[in-house]
Amino acid sequence: MGGSFHVIRRSLPGRRFPARGMSRFCHGADTAIGRVRLVNEDSYLALPPLYAVADGMGGHGAGDLASALAVETLAARARLCPLSVEAVLAALDEANRAILSRGEADGMGTTITGLASLATAGEDHLMVFNVGDSRVYRAVGGRLDQVTVDHSEVQELVLAGALTWEQARTHPRRNIVTRALGSASALRPDHWLLPAVAGDRYLLCSDGLFNELPDDLILSLLAADDPQQAATALVAAADDAGGHDNITAVVVVIEDDHEEQVDDDTTPRDRLPSGDD
Ligand code: MG
Repeated sequence: MGGSFHVIRRSLPGRRFPARGMSRFCHGADTAIGRVRLVNEDSYLALPPLYAVADGMGGHGAGDLASALAVETLAARARLCPLSVEAVLAALDEANRAILSRGEADGMGTTITGLASLATAGEDHLMVFNVGDSRVYRAVGGRLDQVTVDHSEVQELVLAGALTWEQARTHPRRNIVTRALGSASALRPDHWLLPAVAGDRYLLCSDGLFNELPDDLILSLLAADDPQQAATALVAAADDAGGHDNITAVVVVIEDDHEEQVDDDTTPRDRLPSGDD
């Protein structure tokens, strides 16, 4: 893990994490330093009902500290019940201020993107949020959709018609982000609200993953039954493809609430997962 701090709660085989509403989640997560970098500056959070990937920048111990501060701040919020849009936005703001206050090192900052389950008016919704150029993808009906919009120079050049998506993939300034936690006191996160649909799969990842792998390969690896296998295979494939950057994947599967209901109902309370395993 390259000295980087990773908040993680792995799901044990067969265990399901109920969200506070209709849907449940099964997840897997993995990270790798890659083949070029000396430190893993990515951090991730897999603490239902909140998931996130953060890609730190700044070097000299600053990038991994920034991404760790971001996910730690979110982890504190993940224990609040129920999560709201306001709570997640407040956590992002708090993380931004925490990084700014520690930001003696030049350019210390981090991207952050993630997924939160919101129990709103009895119907489950997912909140996807983003600052920077890590991404959330959704796989549904055999298609891979990028939910987030990168905050990057190349994204703006593409939208302005100055670059094609293909050119953007190899552009020398493709790593320049236009928004990050730790760069300004006024944070401008994007967020989207989506219905939680059983069967949908989400991939949260850093650029070290999607810069190495074509969409069709991401889609096929993401389809593995076990989300932990999917996350491990995705990270390994990006490493094999070059590993030019740190690589992180968090895979979240929305499950039907009625699956394994009997199991959960018959588990003695003292053997229920505490969330601190
Ligand atoms: Mg990166």
